Order: sequence, then C-alpha cells, then structure tokens
Amino acid sequence: METNSCDVPVNAGFPIPPRVSRKIKPEATIVNVAGVTIGGSDIVIIAGPCAVESQDQLFETARAVAAGGAGILRGGAFKPRSSPYNFQGMGEEGLRLLGLISKETGLPLVTEVMDTRQVELVAGYADMLQIGSRNMQNFPLLKEAGLCKKPILLKRGMMATIEEFLLAAEYILNQGNDQVILCERGIRTFETSTRNTLDLSAVPMLKRLSHLPVIIDPSHGTGLRWMVPAMTKAAVAVGADGIIMEVHCNPEEALCDGHQSLNLPEFEQLIKELKKIALAVDRNIS
Ligand code: PEP
Ligand code: MN
Repeated sequence: METNSCDVPVNAGFPIPPRVSRKIKPEATIVNVAGVTIGGSDIVIIAGPCAVESQDQLFETARAVAAGGAGILRGGAFKPRSSPYNFQGMGEEGLRLLGLISKETGLPLVTEVMDTRQVELVAGYADMLQIGSRNMQNFPLLKEAGLCKKPILLKRGMMATIEEFLLAAEYILNQGNDQVILCERGIRTFETSTRNTLDLSAVPMLKRLSHLPVIIDPSHGTGLRWMVPAMTKAAVAVGADGIIMEVHCNPEEALCDGHQSLNLPEFEQLIKELKKIALAVDRNIS
C-alpha cells in the first residue's frame, strides 16, 4: 500500500526501476570515493576545472580548491565538445597530471569517460568515473561502467526525463555496481537566458524515488558564473548530497567553460557562505 508520507515514495507515474528504487531499498546508498563518502549527512564539494589545460593551470586550481574546502577534484581529460574544432582535452597526459595532483592534494579524482574503449584507461587514474550528459543513454558505456569497480557519477541527459535518468542508472546497477551518484546538471527548455534550466526539483524527486545520492552541477546548470553561488546555496537547501562545480585559476583565459567557472577567491568565499546554509539544514560541508 503506497502512502503519502514524506519519507515513503509515492507513485511516480512510471514504474521505478527495481535496483535504483527506494521502495526496494529504503536506506540511502552511501557512495565511497576513495574514502570520501557521499549520501550521508555530509555535503561533498567536487571542484576543479572543466578541462585540464596545462600542468600550471591544473595544479594551481587543484591546490586552491583543496585549501578552500573541496572534498573531491574534478577535471576533464577527454572532453565532449559540440564542435570538433574546439579543444578536445589533453587525453592521457591530462589523466597523468590529474593523478599527480590528486595524490599531492589528497583529493580523490573524478574525470569523464566518453567511450567504452577508455574505461580501463580512465579507471586506472580516476577514483570515480563521470558519464556525461551527452552519454547518459550510451548503453554500452553504461554497461561497461557497471562492470568496473569504481563509483560512477552519472549526469542527467540534457533532454532526459527523470524516468530515463533512473533507467540509465539502472543499467549500471544491473551490472553489479551500486556505487552510483546521480547529478542534475540542467535540462533544455525554451529558456535562453541561461545555458540550461537547472531542475532543482529533481533533487527531492530523485531522493524520494531512489536510494542513490543526488548532487547538483550549478556550472553547466546555468552557464553563468555570477549565478553559480545562488544556485549552489539553493541546491544545498533543497537537499542535494553534493555539488560539482567548475573552478579555474584564470577563467577569462580558459579553453573550455570559463564563463561559468568560479575564480579562486569566488570559490573560497562561496564555501564559507555555504557552510551556513548547510548548518541550517542540519548538514555539514565535509
Ligand atoms: C563537464 O562536467 O565538464 C561536462 C561536460 O558536463 P555535462 O556532461 O553535464 O555537459
Ligand atoms: Mn564544462
């Protein structure tokens, strides 16, 4: 019998896939990323550049986000770019640099994998694999990721419904990997003033339907650096288990997504402000 209490999932209007369903597993799944846990009472900040561009750029940014309160380092070595003429990422050399600075700072590393043929290589460096928005329904990639022993950060497709998002996660769990984090990163709507429309209602919805942790990406979700702090605070207030955000030591010169990347002082300031919001909802920024 389904109830309407706040703690029990109600009918979503579609069948909730069984492995991701909170009906089948009521307790929250805690994802462990090389010792950093997501899905418990702490809110985890994942920060770093959109793309690895050089050793200097990556190391300066990574050291600053580590000092500023990030729990996990992000950075793309293989970049899914709309134009084939844009910077495609540094590839394996980028992974090597990420591995070095992850070790130095002690921050576990999340980086994107775009192709089944890259899973083994990327998993050799990363503590968590990111499957990006454009690949949310790349079913062979979801299956391959599910076979790998590393946690998976699955980003919502920019035109995916909540049902499709949960079905994509189900592909991964179906292969025996339940270490999956769901990331809302903005969807396409008729609105053009923002890059995407950040669907904050996805947080309570996903947490109600599923036991998996849910995080927010306010950088891709808005495409606007000045709006990132406001949406990050709102994400914490609405119950997100973490934030993934783009930070760059010199956003004006960035090869990718500089317009939505916080600079280093902005990041430091935001984390200070965020701690107050977290306390107000009985959570900690770890
Ligand atoms: C990214 O995180 O850099 C990225 C490409 O994100 P998305 O897949 O959400 O566009
Ligand atoms: Mn980006």
